[in-house]
Amino acid sequence: MIHTPGGIVAELTQNEMRGIRQQYATDLDIERTRLLYQGSRLPTLFMLLNGVACAYLLWTPQSRALLSGWLIWLLLLAVLRLVQVNAFHAAAPSRQAHPDWQRKFLIGAAASGLTLAFAAVALVPGEAFYQQALVYGLIATAILSASVAYAVSLPAFVAFAVPCLLPTSVFLLFSEDHLQRGWGLLGGVLLLALLVVAWQVNRLVQRSLLQRFHNQALIASLERAKSQAEELNRELAHEVEQRRRAERELRGAHDELEMRVAERTLELDDATHALGKSEARLALALEASELGLWDWNLESDEVHHSQLREIFGLDPEQVHAMLRDLKPRLHPDDLPLLRRALVEHMKGRSDGYQVEYRVKHADGHWVWVEDRGRAVERDVHGRVLRMLGTRRSITARKHQEEQQRLAATVFEAASEGILILDPDYRLLAVNQAFCQVTGYRREELVGQSVVALIGSRESRRQYQSIRLELEQRDHWQGELTETRKNGELYPQWLHLSVVRDSRGSVSHIVGFFADLTTRRQTEERLRYLSHYDDLTGLANRSLFRERLHEASQRARQSGRSLALLHIDLDRFKLLNDSLGHDLADQLLRQMSRRLTQAVPEADTIARLSGDEFAVLIDAYGSLSSLARLASRLLSKLRLPLTVGGQELVISASVGISLLPDNAREISALISQANMAKEHAKHLGGNTFQFFTDNLQASTLERLQLETQLRKAIEEGQLEVFYQPKLCLADDSLNAAEALVRWRHPERGLVPPGEFIPLAEETGLIAPIGEFVLRQACQQARDWQRQGLADIRVSVNLSVHQLRQGNLTSQVRQLLKETGLPAHLLELELTESQLLDNVESVIATFQQLRDLGVKLAIDDFGTGYSSLSYLKRFPVDYVKIDQAFIRGLAPGSEDAAITRAIIVMAHSLELKVVAEGVETQEQMDFLKAQYCDEIQGFLISKPLEAAALVSLLHEQAGLA
Ligand code: C2E
Ligand code: CA
Ligand code: CA
Repeated sequence: MIHTPGGIVAELTQNEMRGIRQQYATDLDIERTRLLYQGSRLPTLFMLLNGVACAYLLWTPQSRALLSGWLIWLLLLAVLRLVQVNAFHAAAPSRQAHPDWQRKFLIGAAASGLTLAFAAVALVPGEAFYQQALVYGLIATAILSASVAYAVSLPAFVAFAVPCLLPTSVFLLFSEDHLQRGWGLLGGVLLLALLVVAWQVNRLVQRSLLQRFHNQALIASLERAKSQAEELNRELAHEVEQRRRAERELRGAHDELEMRVAERTLELDDATHALGKSEARLALALEASELGLWDWNLESDEVHHSQLREIFGLDPEQVHAMLRDLKPRLHPDDLPLLRRALVEHMKGRSDGYQVEYRVKHADGHWVWVEDRGRAVERDVHGRVLRMLGTRRSITARKHQEEQQRLAATVFEAASEGILILDPDYRLLAVNQAFCQVTGYRREELVGQSVVALIGSRESRRQYQSIRLELEQRDHWQGELTETRKNGELYPQWLHLSVVRDSRGSVSHIVGFFADLTTRRQTEERLRYLSHYDDLTGLANRSLFRERLHEASQRARQSGRSLALLHIDLDRFKLLNDSLGHDLADQLLRQMSRRLTQAVPEADTIARLSGDEFAVLIDAYGSLSSLARLASRLLSKLRLPLTVGGQELVISASVGISLLPDNAREISALISQANMAKEHAKHLGGNTFQFFTDNLQASTLERLQLETQLRKAIEEGQLEVFYQPKLCLADDSLNAAEALVRWRHPERGLVPPGEFIPLAEETGLIAPIGEFVLRQACQQARDWQRQGLADIRVSVNLSVHQLRQGNLTSQVRQLLKETGLPAHLLELELTESQLLDNVESVIATFQQLRDLGVKLAIDDFGTGYSSLSYLKRFPVDYVKIDQAFIRGLAPGSEDAAITRAIIVMAHSLELKVVAEGVETQEQMDFLKAQYCDEIQGFLISKPLEAAALVSLLHEQAGLA
């Protein structure tokens, strides 16, 4: 293919044609077939028309049958071929290419040629030239038109022309008729001419067809190229469009992006600005709130903490690790609490934690902090990696809370009633004590106006003045008589204070009040106690003095006289010790009751101390009436009474003094009565004594006596006498009691009864006792040395000596000094003194007994103790008091007592000594009762040592 710029197709060379032919052989055949079918309609119709014309020309009655037969065949053939043409045209181009169509066409063409040949040979008469020429001419015309149409394809031409002309020409050439032969030659020539024409036409057609195909192919390729180019263009345009669009989009996106970037930058700027501002604000807020911010990395334990100095008092450089630097500062008691909260939170059970605990400040004190925190970072397993939180000191708040709690506790626990009022005097709050005192419940009070609660008319009157004063002075206090809920009135001490707010207006009124009932009662009681004796209900010493004072003034004014009786119970000290205080108190109460009953005319009856009472008699009749009163009193007191199941007989000693007869002053009156009482005591008690000037003198005498006694001790005026004891078992004098005597330069020999009590009172008994003890030990040792029988010497002890504490060592020392064997020394202590100080006596006795010294209870039976009680004391002898021995008539009470004492003493393994034995009967009785020893005038009076030796010799001689 050659393309020229003008698009003109150049002539094709032979070689090119061959190539093209080969290329289009199939297309050529198809095109030829199509051309054949296209061009065959007209020749067929023409052949039919010429056939009809020929039939017409040749129509004769003789040839009618053949002719009509041929004509029908011709018509049939024409119709068949036309149908075939139509069928071809109707077929799809692809089917048209089928070679059948060519074959069918060749058959049709051959059939048509043979049909025409048959007509020329068999139908044309041999002699009628005219007819012949016409028919042959018609046939030739038909052959011509067909040949021209079929020349497109040489096979088609041959298939038609050769069967048509060749047999005809040959038939005619070989006829006898020369005319016929001429027609035969013509036919031959025609065939040749037609062959040449057909070949030429075929070549032309083929050429043009090829050219056409070539052109068509060219056009097709051009068109293809064009369409390809167009397609390409379209694609290009599309692509360009797409690119443009993409570019547009890109640009749009870019612009948008830029815009966004700009916006974002702006926003970021704003945010940064805001952040900066809020950061500053946060820092300020944190500082103002005193919040310490902490950030804790749990993996490294690293912590960042602000406000360290404010909270912990630490420098930021000191704190880097939470567990190392801060945890040790935690109060150990609070650690479990924090740990619990932290674990709860770390396990994800809480959104955050908040704990209050104590930490140690660098100064050493504890600081309360509030710690809030939460995990801000966890790993895939949920383990906390980082925590953030705040700490702040809440010490001040805690302190305040503590104060509030304290205040609330004080409010509630106060024993005083507390009330808080609003400015309109309505109750806002009251405490427990308020409710207790008033009897109201809190709910009944709160919200009530105070006016509604004021019960007494007096208080209501006072209310207005209180309000007025409160407004002016802000304070009021005073006593009110208030009413409890149950209507009972009670005294109240109320203190009201106004509380003002910062502007100075009244915000509250606070009141405190105390219920004065108990205080009043206590005052009453105190008043009573200060004037009356609690135990007996009698006037006490102070009231007595008041009354005495009043009475003395009355007496002085009226000119009448006043009597004071001083009463003292005998041996009360002893009773007190042996009965015990409770029973002794009972006894005192009974005695005081008797006293009150015995002297109804008394102005005042008072208990002055322990067992001392005083009776004041205003305006007595006469001395004899006073004496009657006193003896009545004594006999009344002496009646037996039962205390703690024991029947007792208590006597008393009474001293009486008169004003103005004896004394002018109260003090003198009191001391005179006391003196008289002492005198009665000296007389053995159970008696009364009037004060006399003699008594006064004897008192003076006592004073002189004391001085003289001191002198006597110093100057050795004391002597020791010995009274022997007889052992009833063998009638031997085996012991003697040492009894002190005072050889007074003027008065002569003074018995101990006159100075021993005084010596005990004044403490002079200590040197006296020591003197007698030393004398007795030396004497007993002397007798031993003199070869006399061993005499056990017994020495009287005073409780005073026991109290001194050095008795044991003193005795030990004396025994050592004198060389007297311990068992030859006996120490006597009266029953009453024994009971004076039980515990120390037992201890000392035990020590003495350990030394080997013998111990005896003197004057047994005068005290109120039983023997079994005395067994508590480690003693060896019991000396029955003289009083029992004196009354030892057969069948007497004393005899029974003595017998009982001996039996009981023996059962307790104690030896019995009977004192004051003066008669043989007494001795016989005692002997009969197996008394161990006797002492008394029957045996001997107390003798000087030398006299006793004579007695002993005398007795030894008798023996
Ligand atoms: P007492 O210990 O009971 O001594 C016995 C007293 O009874 C002695 O009186 C004695 O002379 C007297 N007496 C002895 N036999 C008879 C008798 O058959 N009939 C009568 N009516 N009396 C008899 P005295 O010597 O006057 O002693 C009186 C009290 O003085 C003693 O009583 C004793 O308690 C105390 N006493 C004597 N000497 C001392 C002493 O050295 N120290 C201490 N603390 N007291 C002494
Ligand atoms: Ca004695
Ligand atoms: Ca005695």
